[in-house]
Amino acid sequence: MSNYPGLTDRFLKYVKVETRSDENSTTIPSTKSQVEFAKQLAAELKELGLSNVRIHPTNGYVLATLPSNLEAGKSAKKVGFISHMDTADFNAKNVNPQIVDNYDGQSVIKLDEAGEYVLDPAEFPNLKNYQGHTLITTDGTTLLGADDKAGVAEIITAFAYLLKHPEIKHGTLQLGIGPDEEIGTGADHFDVADFDADLAYTVDGGPLGELEYETFNAAQAEISFTGKNVHPGTAKGVMVNASLLAMDFQSRLPQDQVPELTAGREGFFLLLSVEGNVEEAKLTYIIRDHDRQKFEAKKALLNDIVAEMNQELGQKRVRAEVRDQYYNMREVIEKDMTVVDLAKEAMENLDIKPLIFPVRGGTDGSKISFMGLPTPNLFAGGENMHGRYEYVSVQVMEKAVDLIIEIAKLAAK
Ligand SMILES: [Zn+2]
Repeated sequence: MSNYPGLTDRFLKYVKVETRSDENSTTIPSTKSQVEFAKQLAAELKELGLSNVRIHPTNGYVLATLPSNLEAGKSAKKVGFISHMDTADFNAKNVNPQIVDNYDGQSVIKLDEAGEYVLDPAEFPNLKNYQGHTLITTDGTTLLGADDKAGVAEIITAFAYLLKHPEIKHGTLQLGIGPDEEIGTGADHFDVADFDADLAYTVDGGPLGELEYETFNAAQAEISFTGKNVHPGTAKGVMVNASLLAMDFQSRLPQDQVPELTAGREGFFLLLSVEGNVEEAKLTYIIRDHDRQKFEAKKALLNDIVAEMNQELGQKRVRAEVRDQYYNMREVIEKDMTVVDLAKEAMENLDIKPLIFPVRGGTDGSKISFMGLPTPNLFAGGENMHGRYEYVSVQVMEKAVDLIIEIAKLAAK
């Protein structure tokens, strides 16, 4: 029997609530469904008996505190646990989770009745890691939303457990469940002072053991090209074709520094979109690199190519607008590795092998770390996130709850 009888029910209840974020929205949170879900979570946290339960008036985070139960005079670092309530850009209406008890680690799992969509270990080899586990899958029509409702359910379950077990000593623990992680804006408005923690973790990673404190540095660039359109019959020596300028620009970038040819710590330029005609053209790129110097060099290269082309053209026809998006949290965290060491030690105490690797992406923790609160990322258990093949193991979710409790204990030692 599980130590955490409420965990699965809580998770199943949350995933059935549609909370997809919307990158075209101008409101915070981006969707009404998240506002409603936040209210539902706040009511639950109050009923559990957590303190200081509130919804932040400007950023939409659901926040709560589990006060320290240490004897008077004893203090510990305040630890925060953060997850996100929104789901990714995929159908999330009428999520209908399926439960596979005692999975054998080799069978093909039918998601829909007709078997149009299946989880096949030949295609998804990680399934082999789940022999004997209870898996929760989709019915093939939606995503599951374990990203990150697994994290939400795990943090709340851990806090509920600690409330019921005052014999487990811990310092002040903070809980934060935010909106709009998937559209990359939720953490922009995170209120570090109000959250009031010394160190924190996002519980938003994948499989068992994931511990991440290195992300990309990230920027977005828009390169615009101004042409000169005249009748093609009399264009000789006059026409400047903006679309051809754009193609020329792209050809001057290092052709091997693209996502499809890079891995590990290799950075890239991703050409996200191309718009153009003779008169005007625009290229949109994202730039990614773990190494800050190489990241800065990539941005400088764009500007150099712009200057070079303008000089060749004898006119200012190419313009670059480069905007930084987030930075590698390692830069902050490696100044004081306590937050990482604590998580590693907690995993080792629980016989979980820490899996530490640089994320080829960002997390809410990248932004929050640069606001002054070091926030690496812990596993939440989900596999194949952001689509219909998403699934999660109940046993791994239980391990995530174990880990949150163990970190709380160790931080108070
Ligand atoms: Zn997530």
